[in-house]
Amino acid sequence: MIPAQFDYVAPTTLEEALSVLAQHGDDAKIIAGGQSLLPVLRMRLNAPEMVVDLGKIEALRGVRDDGDAIVVGAMTTHDEVLHDALVRDNAFVVIKAVELLADPQVRHRGTFGGALSHADPAGDLGAPCLALDAEFVVAGTGGERTVAADDFFVDLFDTAIEEGEILKEVRLPKRAGWGAHYEKFVRVAHQWPIVAVAAAVKVDGGTISEARVGLTNMGSTPLRARTVEQALVGQPATDEAVRAAAASAAEGTNPPSDLNGDADYRRHLVTVLTRRAVLAAAGA
Ligand SMILES: Cc1cc2nc3c(=O)[nH]c(=O)nc-3n(C[C@H](O)[C@H](O)[C@H](O)COP(=O)(O)OP(=O)(O)OC[C@H]3O[C@@H](n4cnc5c(N)ncnc54)[C@H](O)[C@@H]3O)c2cc1C
Repeated sequence: MIPAQFDYVAPTTLEEALSVLAQHGDDAKIIAGGQSLLPVLRMRLNAPEMVVDLGKIEALRGVRDDGDAIVVGAMTTHDEVLHDALVRDNAFVVIKAVELLADPQVRHRGTFGGALSHADPAGDLGAPCLALDAEFVVAGTGGERTVAADDFFVDLFDTAIEEGEILKEVRLPKRAGWGAHYEKFVRVAHQWPIVAVAAAVKVDGGTISEARVGLTNMGSTPLRARTVEQALVGQPATDEAVRAAAASAAEGTNPPSDLNGDADYRRHLVTVLTRRAVLAAAGA
């Protein structure tokens, strides 16, 4: 279908974009890579009067080193993230997630910020952001605020970004000495994850001293597997110990049932993927 008619603007500064959003309220919609928004417009599930394209705002692009964190601009494409040395060296779990995200065409158009703002519960970037304790910098006409990853994902396709705000960048804390891995299960290549698990662990002398585990597609938002995290701490990084801790990975989840698998199947799958992700992160 052809989208309903809309006006279009492509500002070159964040301030200009925020001012257009303020002017149009909920009649305006941001477009980043368009990979999720365009299908929505074409199906007429949304019919904004004004589309604000962030593509010409250079300040929203790229990855920079900010001391104890690396900062990924919202308009950095998945492909740019995938080939960025700072991300590879400091947030390898993101690389593991992005290299399995969609196909090369989508990765060249879709953006890091667009995918996180869209907040699809099957999206691959939420769980790594939870596992890394990322911070989301959101800009509005009144200034900027920072939202912790645990507070960013509110519900299905809903985040802490308020009307008139723009996700500016995502801060990924450097975790020196931690290992990390993303384990994604799909039926066919380039598929959205049926379930996936992001794990970040610190191992001292063969014992897991800290652990963070994020789950993809196990509820209406990406989730932390806190029971697993607690069960891992103090355990040896062995298959037996990690398997025992991973057995509670489905606790507190509410996975969907669909053609790829029912909720019980996902509850089982998440324990298997958690074990694999944690062991790989621990280098065991
Ligand atoms: C065929 C196909 C396969 C895919 N497979 C996967 C997959 O396996 N895993 C996966 O994770 N994703 C997958 N995706 C989605 C992909 O990651 C998209 O890039 C992403 O969902 C949307 O990013 P975008 O930059 O295109 O955003 P857009 O489509 O432009 O925008 C998406 C939404 O976010 C809002 N938005 C965008 N940027 C901002 C911002 N900076 N601040 C506030 N709001 C903003 C928009 O208003 C819109 O509501 C797939 C997409 C396609 C088309």
